[in-house]
Amino acid sequence: MKDIPSLFGSMVFNDAVMQARLPKEVYKALKKTISKGTHLELDVANSVANAMKEWALEKGATHFTHWFQPMTGTTAEKHESFISPVPGGRVIMEFSGKELVRGEPDASSFPSGGLRATFEARGYTVWDITSYAFIKDGTLCIPTAFCSYSGEALDKKTPLLRSMEALDRQALRILRLFNNTTASRVISEVGPEQEYFLIDIESFKQRPDLVYTGRTLFGARPPKGQELEDHYFGSLKPRISAFMKELDEELWKLGVCAKTRHNEVSPAQHELAPIFATTNIATDHNQLTMELMRSIAPRHNLVCLLHEKPFAGVNGSGKHNNWSLSTDTGVNLLEPGDTPHENAQFLLFLSAVIKAVDDYQDLLRVSCASAANDHRLGANEAPPAVVSMFLGDELTEILEALESGADYKNRTKDEMEIGVSVLPHFPKDTTDRNRTSPFAFTGNKFEFRMVGSAFSIAGPNIVLNTIIAESLRVFADALEKSANFTADLAAIVKTTFRLHKRIVFNGNNYAEEWLAEAEKRGLSNLKTTVDALPEFIGKKSLELFTRHHVFSEAELHSRYEIFLEAYCKTINIEALTMVDMVSRDIIPACISYQTDLAKLRKLKTECGVAAEPEDQLLGAVSKLTACLHKKLAELEKTLIDSKETHELLAHAAFYRDKVYVAMSELRLTVDELEMLVATKYWPYPSYGRILFGII
Ligand code: ADP
Ligand code: MG
Repeated sequence: MKDIPSLFGSMVFNDAVMQARLPKEVYKALKKTISKGTHLELDVANSVANAMKEWALEKGATHFTHWFQPMTGTTAEKHESFISPVPGGRVIMEFSGKELVRGEPDASSFPSGGLRATFEARGYTVWDITSYAFIKDGTLCIPTAFCSYSGEALDKKTPLLRSMEALDRQALRILRLFNNTTASRVISEVGPEQEYFLIDIESFKQRPDLVYTGRTLFGARPPKGQELEDHYFGSLKPRISAFMKELDEELWKLGVCAKTRHNEVSPAQHELAPIFATTNIATDHNQLTMELMRSIAPRHNLVCLLHEKPFAGVNGSGKHNNWSLSTDTGVNLLEPGDTPHENAQFLLFLSAVIKAVDDYQDLLRVSCASAANDHRLGANEAPPAVVSMFLGDELTEILEALESGADYKNRTKDEMEIGVSVLPHFPKDTTDRNRTSPFAFTGNKFEFRMVGSAFSIAGPNIVLNTIIAESLRVFADALEKSANFTADLAAIVKTTFRLHKRIVFNGNNYAEEWLAEAEKRGLSNLKTTVDALPEFIGKKSLELFTRHHVFSEAELHSRYEIFLEAYCKTINIEALTMVDMVSRDIIPACISYQTDLAKLRKLKTECGVAAEPEDQLLGAVSKLTACLHKKLAELEKTLIDSKETHELLAHAAFYRDKVYVAMSELRLTVDELEMLVATKYWPYPSYGRILFGII
């Protein structure tokens, strides 16, 4: 048996290590910087760097790196060794405070969306002191934020930290109104449930679509999909179990609280959920989780697919972003609580979320927009592209009663009027929970389910934190001026529900009727990334993000450009991969099959034997191959035509309306052919083999 408690965090320069290894004053100064955001003096940084280096060397590290999260959505690292030459042709191992605090990667090739002119290509990284350094792959990794010289954020972490600060500022104003003088910070916390696929490495290598794009671009439906629901929570196959064990251990070493693991609905699909943490830490940890999933899988002859829709016809993968808000004194502000005072405060925070989700539904949609996630949102599995929220019947009834002034069940109106008497506890029971809602209240947290499996959770949480900070700002502005706090508070809860109840929907979000109903309610339905992204640079978004100092106008525009470009590039790579597969593998395979059929048909006819099956098959394959040839030419033409649109949004719309449509057409014919051509001629492993191949 491994000693898990001593394994846990063994590769992290965490608080316990700091306390044990840093001189007392240095430790105190560092803690102050972490909790209060005060300036870090160079001598403190030098002392920390030295202790970190000694610790890292003991753990076998030879290098350090500033670990950051550029706009690619993945992480970046450039390793520097600790070596420093000394006279005599020898080296010593060195690491200075300056190197710890600030780095200057030559970052000219990261996407900046026009933020960084090429003549000023260098950005710099700064230590995110609130996230612990760790050792990965023999390298001391220092979590950092990444900015340009003019101070613009070039990464996902900087705006995330800013959004957490914005939320902290506004939430504290509210808490002070409730006479809370003990809390000094309000922190958003997240537990991201991560879905993923594991497939055999040999099958993977034989599929150029998986290799180049992370999803299958072709594939006829196998006889069995997920209809028996026999995979969900099923027992783990030995190889999968071995992978999960190694993953958990490696994550634990890095201080990631991997907690839950299980098989998911789709064959070959699985899930990992950690215990929730402060949002920026949870974001770092989720990036590490995805990275380790990818790197550990091959040790088990597996490949981990994090794409949102690797296979048509079975569920895709998402990431459920469980979000809550708590004080540094450990009080969850989304917990209804036991006293009328706590209940009133809860209802105010709840109202802030309701208002935020309704006012900024489009931004929530934007935060989950990508070419890959478009396959998932709106398909019959994940939440639709329409944003709504689930509150459950009980909570909805309470809000309705408050709004109309009616009695809620046995409670009298009087009781309800004073900022609401005692609320019942809401069940955290999972059985009757709505699993179809994009944004569900689950007892003491909200679960945002539109996020794609490959996403960095930074984006969705930047939006969540900022839109809720905005509602709280509006409430605080009104209540700070109020002469009658209780009455005005009750009025805010009531009015907010009246104005925003259209966003609350407790029914089945997959049902066709819901889309019609949502339209009637005036909710937006931004079906694709191209529809959604312009909202990001609209007036409302600009006002919101600049007011709370989360994104500057230039930063918003840069992200808009980067996302649109990524959309076009993704579809372009997929289209080119299809062209490559069809012209170099699939058409030649169809030709070989036809050649053999024609030969046999000729032989049979010469022998005077009827060649009916050969005749029919040959005719069918020949006709479909001709059709394929034509569709291939059509796809190639759209790719040439795409070069004619230069304006970025129009270019993206062209990819969606023309290129993607031609790709879907091509796929239909290929999948039909796959069902006709004998397996031994078909160049790729089938869906059946990939999805059910692991024993
Ligand atoms: P499920 O949604 O699968 O029923 P749970 O509700 O137990 O599972 O939790 C799912 C995720 O939500 C876990 O990562 C868990 O740590 C996280 N979580 C639980 N409580 C909170 C909270 N207060 N804030 C944020 N995340 C939370
Ligand atoms: Mg969940």
